[in-house]
Amino acid sequence: VAKRLEKFKTTIFTQMSSLAIQHNAINLGQGFPNFDGPDFVKDAAIQAIKDGKNQYARGYGIPDLNSAIASRFKKDTGLTINPETEITVTSGCTEAIAATILGLINPGDEVILFAPFYDSYEATLSMAGAKITCITLQPPDFALPLEKLKSKISKNTRAILLNTPHNPTGKMFTKEELEQISSLCIENDVLVFSDEVYDKLAFEMDHISIASLPGMYERTVTMNSLGKTFSLTGWKIGWAIAPPHLLWGVKQAHSYLTFATSTPMQYAAAVALNCPDSYYEELRKDYKAKKEILVEGLKAVGFKVFPSSGTYFVVVDHTPFGLPDDVSFCEYLIKEVGVVAIPTSVFYLDKEEGKNLVRFTFCKDEGTLRSAVERMKERL
Ligand code: GLN
Repeated sequence: VAKRLEKFKTTIFTQMSSLAIQHNAINLGQGFPNFDGPDFVKDAAIQAIKDGKNQYARGYGIPDLNSAIASRFKKDTGLTINPETEITVTSGCTEAIAATILGLINPGDEVILFAPFYDSYEATLSMAGAKITCITLQPPDFALPLEKLKSKISKNTRAILLNTPHNPTGKMFTKEELEQISSLCIENDVLVFSDEVYDKLAFEMDHISIASLPGMYERTVTMNSLGKTFSLTGWKIGWAIAPPHLLWGVKQAHSYLTFATSTPMQYAAAVALNCPDSYYEELRKDYKAKKEILVEGLKAVGFKVFPSSGTYFVVVDHTPFGLPDDVSFCEYLIKEVGVVAIPTSVFYLDKEEGKNLVRFTFCKDEGTLRSAVERMKERL
């Protein structure tokens, strides 16, 4: 394996999902729903295939999808963008992140990450030869350590990689925090790469795209996807939105990474994004109920549960159960209890920092969530 990838192992999500199958455990690890996406979107994909929409799509997205993304972005942020020059459709947000980093970061450029961070950020930054500067968000509220951030920004800082609502903690950056980040970025001429795939799963406050703050659109790449919002994580449709001077880099990287994304799924994605707002309200309501079941259940089991405002994840402190770290706790949980969670140390540069925390997902039907809680009550 190339040196740039030597330190990376099989992703934790792959590891944990295979262990779940092997041990017949209830999988509250990898974030994929165990229920299906809506019929109107699935039907649109079937129709597109039958209608012969099966050859290469336009590299940066079929016109219908780019327009649907632009109108959704307008509704969400108030910003009017040009669907032809400010959007690139990618294979999931993971490719949008990779294309953004490979398209805009030079070897040696510094990029700031907030730990815990989603695992692909570090690996992709490493492929680009970036220098990672990491700032840790501390429990219980995972608030932005502003002074720390100020002290880490230098003339070599090229970008901040932001994720709100935040995986794994469920933290949502507040307006004040986003404004603080924005003024530092404007002052120091720093870009923001903002992963907002959980934007529609916001329960306690409204999601804010940092691109919508004054002076920020011109320095921000906003990334999103279909998977979480439409419970279709296997479709791998994502996108990046940025002003033309930044989008060009993303588009070029995308052109030579994957060239284009599945054509029929893009037609269906356009139908999905044009849905009425009631779809999103319903989704939020369903997830709020699921969250309640899991959070109350985990508390009753005896975990210290950290408040999660968005995403379909919740982080807990497992130390009341006496295991030395997050990895051994998760092993015990799979083998002796029959439930899968994600150890959070994989989301930190310094693995010690995550050793008391594990992540559970509630993107499962209510019966599954209740059975997982029952197993933990009986066997932990
Ligand atoms: N985003 C999903 C999660 O955090 C996992 C995606 C993946 O398996 N790479 O669970």
